Amino acid sequence: MYIETSTGNWEVVIGLEIHAQIISNSKLFSSASTKFGANPNENVSYIDAALPGVLPVINSYCVDQAIKTGLGLNATVNNISFFDRKNYFYADLPQGYQITQFFHPIVSGGYIDLEKEDGTLHRINLERIHIEQDAGKSIHDQSPTKSFIDLNRAGVALMEIVTKPDMRSAEEVTLFLQKLRSILRYLKTCDGNMDEGSMRADVNISLHRPGTPYGTRAEIKNVNSIKFMAIAVNYEIERQINILENGGEVEQETRLFDSVRGITKTMRSKEDAQDYRYFPEPDLPPLILEQSRIDAIKNTIPELPDAKARRLQKEYDLPKYDTTLISEEIEIADFYESALKSINSGSNEVAKLLANWLLGDLFALLNKNNKNITESNISAQNLAELIILIKDNVISGKIAKEVIELMWNEKKSAKEIVEEKGLKQITSPEEIKISLKEVLEEHKDKVLEYKSGKDKLFGFFVGQAMKKTKGKANPKILNDILKELLSE
Ligand code: ADP
Ligand code: MG
Repeated sequence: MYIETSTGNWEVVIGLEIHAQIISNSKLFSSASTKFGANPNENVSYIDAALPGVLPVINSYCVDQAIKTGLGLNATVNNISFFDRKNYFYADLPQGYQITQFFHPIVSGGYIDLEKEDGTLHRINLERIHIEQDAGKSIHDQSPTKSFIDLNRAGVALMEIVTKPDMRSAEEVTLFLQKLRSILRYLKTCDGNMDEGSMRADVNISLHRPGTPYGTRAEIKNVNSIKFMAIAVNYEIERQINILENGGEVEQETRLFDSVRGITKTMRSKEDAQDYRYFPEPDLPPLILEQSRIDAIKNTIPELPDAKARRLQKEYDLPKYDTTLISEEIEIADFYESALKSINSGSNEVAKLLANWLLGDLFALLNKNNKNITESNISAQNLAELIILIKDNVISGKIAKEVIELMWNEKKSAKEIVEEKGLKQITSPEEIKISLKEVLEEHKDKVLEYKSGKDKLFGFFVGQAMKKTKGKANPKILNDILKELLSE
């Protein structure tokens, strides 16, 4: 997709560098806790504070997590990789360097497939994934004269996931980050919470004329939500087009996103870019991974979102819209599949009915109450019970809408609510006929009008009869009998 201007077409080129915090109880090279929200400097070991004479020891669980991530992203896990020192001086980095993997990362290649509106796939290739330590945090807003350092985050394990410059629009960046986050959450290797900073992304953007070499890129640092990311990208596209169309050149620089104004600003230009003087980390041996270890981890990879969506589509003939929503979060997929199992029907219609109630009414209740699926007042089993009542014609869809609200508010099962409130559908033709006859009796004038051609009144009679039965009459039976009575 090109951007057309009066001077011709531009193509946008985007690559991402994502820092994903590895889920693990302890840090990459120390046994200090990684728990979020602890008091400042509560979780700091000698290693994290870089006391002289201490030596790092690799946390093998973090390594397993990186291996799992690589495998989940279709990449190659390297049997040997190395750690390197990235040197820079900053107050929240007591070592004076970060241990990272620069020359030989643990994971190479990989990709994520994005599905476009028209159903075609667009593959975003990955360059690499490496593991490294996070830095601490400087706090500047608690005193007018002092800064504080919190080293709780220092030494926490990160994966840096670097893509090739394969994205072409803000929309693709959004899709990519959503997909990546979803896969990491399925793998349970990163919680993907951008607002807590456990997933952060730097965006590299350039523009060029199609068919010519890529242009010079600007990098936007640390945007902390997917929504902001799209705003930042679109702002940056405008800014660069403006420069290029006025005969200027885009500078290679690092920019910051100002979320209040929705713009990017220069942070540092190429001239004052730092020289990190990378060199192999002498305190750590090469990271050697036996193939058997990699294979064992391969066996623990769950069915991932795309595969799950495809399977649900195939098994139950669900629309893609539904399967995409259901498979985006593993907890939603588990909820859906466990409810479906409880219903135990095997029919595609029931699978679709369940999808409708989950994605429609239950999602609305969750949204309204600001809860996610794991905090739902209605369990998968209880939703299943509601679906069974609908499918067996015990209650109508309309009554079910009331029932699900009550289930949420009163935390009771569907059966209990239907029992208590007497909401069972009336399916006895005799009973329905009585109500209908009453309605026709009360509206003799309208019956005459109907018979002289005012067909629309049919709906009016249905409405009146429903009112009489408090919405409980089975609509199909009611319709049939009404037709019968009116043709008499
Ligand atoms: P560096 O080592 O200077 O950070 P890399 O080659 O590692 O550079 O690239 C960093 C990121 O920038 C990658 O995500 C890559 O896809 C992206 N990138 C590289 N060239 C371009 C370009 N011309 N336009 C946009 N993004 C680019
Ligand atoms: Mg880089």
